[in-house]
Amino acid sequence: DSGKPGNFLRNVIEQDLEKGTYAQRRWGGSPGDAAHHAAGIIDPAAIRTRFPPEPNGYLHLGHAKSIWINFSLAKEYGGVCHLRFDDTNPEKEEREYVESIREMVQWLGYSTEFADVPGAPGQTQPHVYYASDYFDFMYRAAEYLIESGNAYVDEQTPEQMRANRGDFNTPGKDSPFRSRSPAENLARLREMRAGKLADGAAVVRARIDMASPNINMRDPAIYRIKHAAHHNTGDKWCIYPMYTFAHPIEDALEQITHSFCTLEFEDQRPFYDWLLQKLCEGGLLQAPPPRQYEFARLNVTHVITSKRRLRQLVEEGHVDGWDDPRMPTIAGLRRRGYTPDALKLFCERSGVSKSGGWIDYSALEGALRDTLDPVAPRALAVLAPLKLELTNWDALFGAGHLEPCHAPRNPHDETAGQRQFTLGREIWIEAEDFMEVPAKGYRRLYPPHVGGDGQPKEGNKVRLKYGYVIHCTGCEKDANGQITKVLAEVIPDTKSGTPGADSVKVKGVIGWVGVHDATPAEIRLYERLFKVEHPGEAELAEELNPDSLSIAQGYVEAGLLDMLQAQGDAPAPLQFERLGYFVRDRKMPIGAGTLVFNRACTLKDGWKA
Ligand code: ATP
Ligand code: MG
Ligand code: MG
Repeated sequence: DSGKPGNFLRNVIEQDLEKGTYAQRRWGGSPGDAAHHAAGIIDPAAIRTRFPPEPNGYLHLGHAKSIWINFSLAKEYGGVCHLRFDDTNPEKEEREYVESIREMVQWLGYSTEFADVPGAPGQTQPHVYYASDYFDFMYRAAEYLIESGNAYVDEQTPEQMRANRGDFNTPGKDSPFRSRSPAENLARLREMRAGKLADGAAVVRARIDMASPNINMRDPAIYRIKHAAHHNTGDKWCIYPMYTFAHPIEDALEQITHSFCTLEFEDQRPFYDWLLQKLCEGGLLQAPPPRQYEFARLNVTHVITSKRRLRQLVEEGHVDGWDDPRMPTIAGLRRRGYTPDALKLFCERSGVSKSGGWIDYSALEGALRDTLDPVAPRALAVLAPLKLELTNWDALFGAGHLEPCHAPRNPHDETAGQRQFTLGREIWIEAEDFMEVPAKGYRRLYPPHVGGDGQPKEGNKVRLKYGYVIHCTGCEKDANGQITKVLAEVIPDTKSGTPGADSVKVKGVIGWVGVHDATPAEIRLYERLFKVEHPGEAELAEELNPDSLSIAQGYVEAGLLDMLQAQGDAPAPLQFERLGYFVRDRKMPIGAGTLVFNRACTLKDGWKA
C-alpha cells in the first residue's frame, strides 16, 4: 500500500472527482454549510466524508481506524470530514460520551476543520453535527413515503412481524396492514406521533418487497414508538427513526459524498440507495445522493473492539475504568503512552481492504516503538532496586564527592541537548543485573566465586552507563540470605567520554540511579489484557491475562521531575533506557504524592503465549 488509506476507496473518490459527480451540488440543508460556503473554506465540489459514532460508549481502536480513514481521505482530496453524533436512540446515549468522543477526535489531531460563525467572521465553530438535529426532516420524510405509497404503518405484533419476515430460504409474507390507503396510514402515523399508541404497538415500514432475497429489503422498519426523553430533543418526540433510515438521511442532509462504513453494513446498501432515491424523486433531497462504500473492520489479536464487551470489562471490574491503560479505548491507549502519530502509523500499516483478517498485536506495539524511538526523551530508571556500594569511592575521590555525569536527552537528536546527574558512593541498580553465582553466559555483575569446574573465578567488570567501569567484589546478605547490597570498586580513569574510557574492555553496561538524588516512583508494568489471540469467543474471565498488570516500586533519574512538570497535563512518553517506553500517568497529579508511570511497551517484543 502507498501508506495512504485504502487504495480502493481512493479510486472511488478519484473517479468521482474526474467525472464531476458532485460538482453541481448546491448548498443548504445542514447547519454549518452556509457558513463554510460563505467563508470560502470548502470548495462546494469537494468531497465530504463523515465519522458517525453513536454516543453510547468510549471510542476504541476500531474507531481510531475509521476516524483516520475518513479524516485523512477528506484532507488528502481537499474536502472535509464531519464529526457527527449518531444520537437517534433516546435511551442509550449520554452527554458524557459526546464530550469524550469529541475530546478524542481532537486529540488525534482532527479538530482543525473550523468554519467562520455566520455573521461573525473570524470566529470559529467546531465541525460537529448531531443526527437528532434532523428529526423534523426525518419525520417529514416518513410522511412523504407514506403519502407516496412507499411506506405504511404496521400494527402486527413484533412476533408476527418476525414470523412473516421469512428467512434466507423462505420469502416473507405481506402484513395485513400493508394494503391500507395512504390516508389511513398518514392518520395512524400522526396518532403515533401524538403519543396515542404504546411502545411496540406499531412501526412504520418501508414498502419494498417481502420476497426480496435481501432480508433487509423486506419492508424494513423506519420508525418506532418509544416514549422516552432524548438528551437533545427532550420530550418533543415519542417516535424515533431507526438507524438504517436515519443514517442515509443524515449523510444526504450534510451533503456527504462518500459514506464509508464497515462491511457488516453491506446488506444495508440497497436500502440506503432505495431510500435516498425516493427522497430525491420527491424533491426532499437533491441528487446526486451520497453513496455508501464498505471496508473490513479492524481486528487486532489480544484486543476486543466491541463497546458491549468493553463495557462488560468495566462493569465487572476486570479493569479500572474505560481509560484503564490496558483498555483499547483511545482514552486508555493515550494513558498507556500511545500518541496520535503511533495510532495513525498503525492504521496506515494495517491497511484498508475489502476482506477482514486479524492484525497482530505486535504491529500495534511496533508502530509505537517506531514513532517513539526518534522523539522520546531518555532517562535512567531502576524498576527493582538493589543497592550497590562503591567501596573505594571515598579513598579515590574523598567522602561525599558527587561526580557529574551527562547523557544525551535523545541520541537521535543533538539539538535536544544533554541531561545532567551525578554519581556517588551508593547507587541503585536493577536486581537482575547482579548474580551471586552467574548463569552461563551472564555478562553483568557477579563477585569472585568458585566456578562449575571447581576453580576460583574473578568478579566481573561492567560499565555504569555514562559513568565508570566498576569491578564487583562481593555482596552483603540479611539473616534470611537475601542480598541487601552489592559491593564493587570503581576502576579509576575509565569514565565515559574521557580518554581512558576504553582502557578496560567490558561486556556489560548497566543502568543505575544515584541513591543521593533518586526520585522514587511507582511504575505500572502492563501486558496485553487478553492472553488468548481472539478474545470474545469464551467467558471473559477465562480469556483474560492474569498478569496484565504488575506494580514496581522503583527510582527514576533526578531532573526528570522538571521535565514532567514542564509537560503539565499532557505528559509525553519517554524511554527508560534498556527498559522500554513509559509515560507519566496523567490521572495522578504531579507533585502530590507518588510519581506514577505506565509502561507503554518494552523495547523489544517479548510476548510468550
Ligand atoms: P461497536 O461495535 O464497538 O459498538 P459501532 O460500530 O457500533 O462499534 P459506532 O459508534 O456506531 O460503533 O461506530 C462509529 C463508526 O466507527 C462506524 O462507522 C463504524 O463502522 C466504525 N467502526 C467501529 N468499529 C470499527 C472497527 N473495528 N474497525 C473499523 N471501523 C469501526
Ligand atoms: Mg453502531
Ligand atoms: Mg455496535
